[in-house]
Amino acid sequence: MIIILKSDATAAQRDQLIAHIEQLGLKAHLSEGTFRTILGVIGDESLISADQLRATPGVSDVVPVLPSYKLASREAHPQPSIVDVKGAKFGGGHISFIAGPCAVEDHSRMQAIAAAVKAAGAHVFRGGAYKPRTSPYSFQGMGLEGLKVLRAVGDEFDMPVVSEVTDPRHLDQLVEHVDMLQVGARNMQNFALLAEVGRTSTPVLMKRGMSATLTDLLMCAEYVLAHGNPNVVLCERGIKSFDTATRNLFDVAAVPAIHELSHLPIIVDPSHATGRPDLIPPCALAGIAAGADGVHIEVHDCPAEARSDGPQALLPEQYAELAEAMRSMATLVKKQFPEHEKEI
Ligand code: PEP
Ligand code: MN
Repeated sequence: MIIILKSDATAAQRDQLIAHIEQLGLKAHLSEGTFRTILGVIGDESLISADQLRATPGVSDVVPVLPSYKLASREAHPQPSIVDVKGAKFGGGHISFIAGPCAVEDHSRMQAIAAAVKAAGAHVFRGGAYKPRTSPYSFQGMGLEGLKVLRAVGDEFDMPVVSEVTDPRHLDQLVEHVDMLQVGARNMQNFALLAEVGRTSTPVLMKRGMSATLTDLLMCAEYVLAHGNPNVVLCERGIKSFDTATRNLFDVAAVPAIHELSHLPIIVDPSHATGRPDLIPPCALAGIAAGADGVHIEVHDCPAEARSDGPQALLPEQYAELAEAMRSMATLVKKQFPEHEKEI
């Protein structure tokens, strides 16, 4: 940490700061320039509060040297993490595809969609049983009944399943029925939920909040890691923009930027990022080209009857065509698929 003193800071203020730093068991390195004095703090930065220092007389600014997301940072863990969801691997050169409807619907419809996405090459089946809807009058999801349907269909088609947890009170149900817990964009900063999710060992799909910076996203992942769950996969799903042409703004640069900052895998969700079936294929391919460790896409066999997010759903045949293109792109960027391992 570097402390920059005000140009009119007094010698007494400087000495008090040095004494404070040393009292905490840290070392202070004084560097007096012509116009400004700088204090370098050497030792464990977590022992000292940057905000308290900023409020201390004589201090102009405080610049932390290490990111606050210690466990999620690349510095803490230079090798990429691989998150394994029952054989579907994300990160460290592995790529897996997640597909399914926005919301879990009736059993036969879920069977039809699972059969189609499995045949197209998806590895993980998705569906929300608890839906975070903007309107309290919209379909809120089938709840526990939906989780049971998702689990049964996942088992029937031999696919791991992912579903969203919106409330810590549902966590036990979710952990019992799913292989991966989704934390949605709207709940990314629900810290009580993150702490509870962190106490489980179920892999987590952490979606980026629509107005979250990459640092915000990594701090939320840090909550889960700090509570003991190392299995976090990040997801870029679009951020708010002034432009209404797309549902959100797909931030493809987030993928390589996160890879630089963190060892955690990051996947892309072009369905929520664009909200438009015509834009999903190019954005999915762009995400893989940028290094994404997975792709999450909503698929429905009859979007006009979908109970949630129908307008952005790909039809099974559109998904099958895209999945083939995604495999070619992933091969080009030297990613490994779960089926590669089965071949070995
Ligand atoms: C979803 O996956 O259906 C969903 C609600 O996602 P997000 O939290 O990204 O909006
Ligand atoms: Mn959705």
